[in-house]
Amino acid sequence: MSMMQQPLLISSLIEHAIVTHPNAEIVSRQVEGGIFRYTYGQAAARAKQLANALTQKLGIKVGDRIGTLAWNTYRHYELYFGVSGMGAVAHTINPRLFPEQIIYIVNHAADRFIFVDLTFVPLLEAVASHISKVEGIVVLTDKAHMPTNSKLTNLICYEDLIADMSTEFTWPLLDENCDAALCYTSGTTGHPKGVMYTHRSTVLHTIASVQSNALNITNDTVILPVVPMFHVNAWGTPYAATMTGAKIVFPAHGMDGASLYELINGEQANLLLGVPTIWLGLLNYLDQIGATLTSVKNVVVGGAAAPLSMIKAFQEKHDAFLIHAWGMTELSPLGTVNSMTRAMAQMPLEQRYQKQLKQGRAVYGIEMKIVDDAGKDLPRDGKAFGRLLVRGAWVVSEYYLNDDKKSFVDGWFDTGDVATIDAENTMQIVDRSKDVIKSGGEWISSIDLENAAVGHPALKECCVIGVYHPKWDERPLLLAIRKEGATVTEAEIITFLSDKVAKWQLPDVVVFVDELPHTATGKLLKTGVRETYKNYLVEKGLV
Ligand code: ADP
Repeated sequence: MSMMQQPLLISSLIEHAIVTHPNAEIVSRQVEGGIFRYTYGQAAARAKQLANALTQKLGIKVGDRIGTLAWNTYRHYELYFGVSGMGAVAHTINPRLFPEQIIYIVNHAADRFIFVDLTFVPLLEAVASHISKVEGIVVLTDKAHMPTNSKLTNLICYEDLIADMSTEFTWPLLDENCDAALCYTSGTTGHPKGVMYTHRSTVLHTIASVQSNALNITNDTVILPVVPMFHVNAWGTPYAATMTGAKIVFPAHGMDGASLYELINGEQANLLLGVPTIWLGLLNYLDQIGATLTSVKNVVVGGAAAPLSMIKAFQEKHDAFLIHAWGMTELSPLGTVNSMTRAMAQMPLEQRYQKQLKQGRAVYGIEMKIVDDAGKDLPRDGKAFGRLLVRGAWVVSEYYLNDDKKSFVDGWFDTGDVATIDAENTMQIVDRSKDVIKSGGEWISSIDLENAAVGHPALKECCVIGVYHPKWDERPLLLAIRKEGATVTEAEIITFLSDKVAKWQLPDVVVFVDELPHTATGKLLKTGVRETYKNYLVEKGLV
C-alpha cells in the first residue's frame, strides 16, 4: 500500500470549506420570516457548536440517530454537518408522509432527538404519544420564537442549545464506512424503507455530482435547491456546494412561484434543482406576471419525467437549459444526467429537445443494464426496454434493518423502473414497472402519454393509468386538470394527442378532475387513482 489511506468523511467537506472558501455565502429564507445570510466560515463554527452540544449536553454517541423535520434552511444545513461530522446519523424525515408513516420511521430508526422547524411542531404534537422513546425535541429557532402553550413538554430551543458552546471541535477520525445519514423512501405501498448512507458513499457521490458532465457545480455557481433536504438530501447539493464553494440559496417553505421568483432574482441564482411540479408552478407564475428569468443558466429536473413543454418553456422563454436527471433514494440519488454534449450543442433545437427528454448518461461510478423478465441482458440499442438494474459505490446494498431482499439481484439493484439504454449509455425511462399499461400484449408508457397531454395549453396536470378492458386487458385512461377558466373538451384533447402518439396508444377516455393525489415527494400517487377507476370503462358502458 504505497498511497495514504485517508478516510472519506463528511467532516472533510466542511473543513475544506473553512480553509478554501470561508467567505462564500449561504443565504436562507427563514421560517420566522425574512432572509438570513452568513458565510461557510460562520456556518462551520455553528456546526461545531452543535457538535459540542450534541456530545456534551445531549450525550449523543457515534452511530446514534438524530431526526430532522425541517425545510431547506441554514439551521438544517448546520445539522447536516454537525450531526454527521461528530459521527451521529442525520435522519431527515419527510414531513409530508402520513402521520402513521412518520411514527413508523421515527421508531424504526430509534431517533434519540428530533430537531424540528416551527412549522412542524403541530405535526409532532399529533404523534407524540406514539414516539415516546424520543428523549427530546429541539425547535430550530431562537428564544423569542419558541412555541408557548405547546403540548410537548420536552422542548429545547436550538439557539439556546448551541449559544454557550465552543466554536472549536475536533471531528473524530471515523471509519469511512460508518453510518452518516438516513433517508426513508416514501413507499407508496407497505412501510417506508430506510437507506443508510455512509461517509464514504456520500463523499464519492459528491465528487461525482459536481463534475461538469454531471450537475456542473463550481465556485461560480449560485445554487438554489428547491428539492427538499428531507428528500434524498436535496439531491446531495448541500455537500456539493460545500465542496466547491458555490453560493447556496435555501428557499425554506417558500416553494410557490412568487416566493421562488423573488429569491432567484434577488440572489441571482444560476442553478435550480427540483421536481417537475415545482417548475410548473414557477413557469405558470412567470407567465401570469409576464416576467422572465435572467440569471438562470441550468435547471436540473428529476424525480419524475420532464415534459417537452417544460424543456421548451425554460429554453425559449427564459434562456435556461433543462438538465434532465434520474435517480432515487437508493442511489443517493444520482444515476444519470442529461448534461449538454458537444453533439447536442450543435443540433437544431427541436432535435435537441428530443434528446433532452431522455434521462441522460450514467455518471461515472454508476453502471447500468436492462434485463428481461427472465433476467437476461437486453441490447443497448435505444429500442429494447426492460427492467433497469444498477450498481455503484453509492447504491444501496440492503435496506436499513430490513430483510426484504427482492430488489437485490446478483450484486445489482433492481430499480423498479423500465427503461431503454442506447449505444452511448443514454438511458430513457419508459415507466415505473407498476405503472406501465399492458394493452393486448403491447406496452404503453403512462409517462409518455402524460407528458404529451400536459403540452396542451389548456391543461394544468395529467395522470394516465391502465384500467381494466375485457378484450385488451388494460387500456389507458387520462385524468386531466384544466387550467383555470379553460373549457377544453375530451375530443379536443384526443385530437391534440393524435399526432404525438401511435393511434393504439391514445387514451380510451379522458376524465376531467379538480385535483390529483401526490406522494410525499410531489409525484403522482397512482395507487388510489387506479383503485377508483379500475372498472371505469365497464361501469360507464364504454366497452
Ligand atoms: P419515491 O418516489 O418512492 O420516494 P424516489 O424519490 O427515490 O422514490 O424516486 C425514484 C423514482 O422516481 C425512480 O425510480 C423513477 O421511477 C422516478 N424518477 C426519478 N427521476 C425521474 C426522471 N427524470 N424521469 C422519470 N422518472 C424519474
